[in-house]
Amino acid sequence: MTLVHTLGFPRIGERRELKFALESFWRGDSSAAQLEEAARFVRARRWQTQARAGLGLVTVGDFALYDHVLDASLLLGAVPARFGFGGDAGTAGHGAGADNAPATGAQAVVDRAPLGLAGHFALARGNAAQPALEMTKWFDTNYHYLVPELDSRTRLSLHAAALLDEVREAQAFGHRVKVALVGPLTWLRLAKSHEAGFDRRALAADLAECYATLFGRLGGLGVEWVQLDETALVTDLDDDWLHAADLIYARFNRAEGRPRLLLATAFGDVSRHADRLAGWPIDGLHLDLVRAPDQLAAFLPDWPEGRVLSAGVVDGRNIWRNDLRLSLATLAPLHAALGDRLWLAPSCSLLHVPVTLDGEDKLDAEVKPWLAFATEKLGELALLARALDAGDNADAPAHEATAIARALAASDAARGARLASRRTRHRTVRARVEAITPDMAERFSPHAGRAVAQQAALGLPPLPTTTIGSFPQTPAIRAARAAHKRGELGALDYLNAMRAEVAEVIRRQEALGLDVLVHGEPERTDMVEYFAEKLWGYAVTANGWVQSYGSRCVKPPILFGDVLRPEAMTVDTAVHAQSLTGKPVKGMLTGPVTMLQWSFVRDDLPREQVQLQLALALRDEVQALEAAGIRIIQIDEPAFREGLPLRAADQGAWLDAAVRAFRLSAAGVADTTQIHTHMCYSEFNDVLPWIAAMDADVITIETSRSAMELLDGFAAFDYPNQIGPGVYDIHSPRVPSVEAMLALLERACSVIPRERLWVNPDCGLKTRGWAETEAALANMVAAARRLRASA
Ligand code: GLN
Ligand code: ZN
Repeated sequence: MTLVHTLGFPRIGERRELKFALESFWRGDSSAAQLEEAARFVRARRWQTQARAGLGLVTVGDFALYDHVLDASLLLGAVPARFGFGGDAGTAGHGAGADNAPATGAQAVVDRAPLGLAGHFALARGNAAQPALEMTKWFDTNYHYLVPELDSRTRLSLHAAALLDEVREAQAFGHRVKVALVGPLTWLRLAKSHEAGFDRRALAADLAECYATLFGRLGGLGVEWVQLDETALVTDLDDDWLHAADLIYARFNRAEGRPRLLLATAFGDVSRHADRLAGWPIDGLHLDLVRAPDQLAAFLPDWPEGRVLSAGVVDGRNIWRNDLRLSLATLAPLHAALGDRLWLAPSCSLLHVPVTLDGEDKLDAEVKPWLAFATEKLGELALLARALDAGDNADAPAHEATAIARALAASDAARGARLASRRTRHRTVRARVEAITPDMAERFSPHAGRAVAQQAALGLPPLPTTTIGSFPQTPAIRAARAAHKRGELGALDYLNAMRAEVAEVIRRQEALGLDVLVHGEPERTDMVEYFAEKLWGYAVTANGWVQSYGSRCVKPPILFGDVLRPEAMTVDTAVHAQSLTGKPVKGMLTGPVTMLQWSFVRDDLPREQVQLQLALALRDEVQALEAAGIRIIQIDEPAFREGLPLRAADQGAWLDAAVRAFRLSAAGVADTTQIHTHMCYSEFNDVLPWIAAMDADVITIETSRSAMELLDGFAAFDYPNQIGPGVYDIHSPRVPSVEAMLALLERACSVIPRERLWVNPDCGLKTRGWAETEAALANMVAAARRLRASA
């Protein structure tokens, strides 16, 4: 029998039960026991879904209250000393509560139990005394993990109680269990140290020891398989890292009573490691055959005897229904060669797709049959396994053959319908993309000339103040939007409610004395979904949530067809806002790179083409805004670097394409029209040439959390255009003082000429309350005025 398993499954819950349980607990509205109860329910459901789909192993260990990388750090006792959970951390060499004290002399700092939920969430979210662990994107996904923080005081030790409990929990339901863990190489690779001179690979031996001990514990519980997620193997690794990996894995040779090990890779090709992996003491290897189908060839000729190949043939990163017949064609020879040593799985963890299509009653009826979410993907894998096995079994019952034939026919039909759909191909769109000429991505004059023309047109004071776009999304706004969606608030009433909100936001900005205003974005639930609802070629889901970090989820729209803008999307709102004030109001758009990156994108057209279609649609909107008298247009690209390929060699071409798309969207306006862009992360140095090439007149960026350090890179690069470095962190309700912002601005002025500086917060204000927002902005305006006066 061909075994089916999944590398991981969504854990937020079918109806986001875990999200709501977490947020209720954090608000103090529910107890730890209630949170645990909700978590237990979600875990039970995910295992049930897997078992019902016919998976041979259910996965344990991929669940996490907040983040599975955090859980791995806790499992390994890697809690930074700054949190003070060691109590007498300096003397905590006794290993109290630790499940082992590695033979190499590593010592326990802290046990998981005493850390408790408060400690767990302190690491995840920070507390009064300490900021949280740093958070960053999991490879090229939109999932964010908490970065392990290591230094010379780190003492690794195993704290497996919680994990072992979960194993028992699954076993109690009668499930056969595979435990999924972040692999030791990947965990160490993703970790960071702020201590100069500390090489985290010094921890490799202790790390291997902890895993080896854990394997023994799991073996003792009757766990047959452990999956080690070593996604780091698809990234650039130098010889020192590979050597460290060899040493770690060599240790598992002699791990006593250990379960069998499945090494899982995803998001890329690991064929260059084929020889190395052949030597590691592993019992199975998972390959992502969606992203990197060709890598199979490097492994196949001499697949080691007794080793399992887990074939990732169903796309775990996207929501398209599998072409079952095509998958079978790939799998049949593998099945013939490997027999039961061939396993089937999604290409990667299903964490990155929504839970189920069930209940998506309002989803575009033509598109829905083309889709498969996590639960449906398990069904596809099970069907593939049945089809492979049926071929072996001459006396399989006839109804089995019929069922398989039916499923294949349904898959063919879905594929055929998608191929034939007129909504996936628009002649006009294709023709426009074909007709793109280089000059379309060029402004008339270089920035220096444009800056003069824009200043003449806008007459802004030095160090102009502005905000990033959104203002607090109050309960009243949410209620109006929800009522409108339910059909209880008519279109006109809804429009009026939004207009009233815009008027209020304009009034408040004028009162604050801001120089460049925004309309506040009350009509937008989400900066991508809002446009997806207006563009042709997009479908939106009701419940297609995907975890972004902790309790936060996103609902990526589905880009299934050629992108066409049937009518203006933001012009009415912008014109209305502008009519209320003499100050310039920024038009507010989401850029082509972000629209692409934060959507589920069709897989039947190169992404670059899709990006150009988006760029053209946005270009039309930019020009329409200009024609309607809007003098400043912001094109947000917060996801600009998110799609960056994992391997350095692939990045340049990708960035070139991203820059081209942005410029295409922005460059169709007169010199006097000022184009802004906004990005909110703090890693720019490696991509500065491309940021500069975007040639936005003004870029607003997050930098307050790094105390303007980020600007040094811009200065060193001689970044030529205008910059608005965020002077306060909108992620916190704290109201920064005038002095604090002034100090940051002075620091900014010391590296960037002040004629090129703007004054603004880090990001949009939609998650904040009005009181703190007004107080902070008042201080911000005061700081800008003080600085102007001191010039
Ligand atoms: N204009 C958007 C806002 O202010 C930008 C959001 C973002 O950068 N993520 O909300
Ligand atoms: Zn932002």
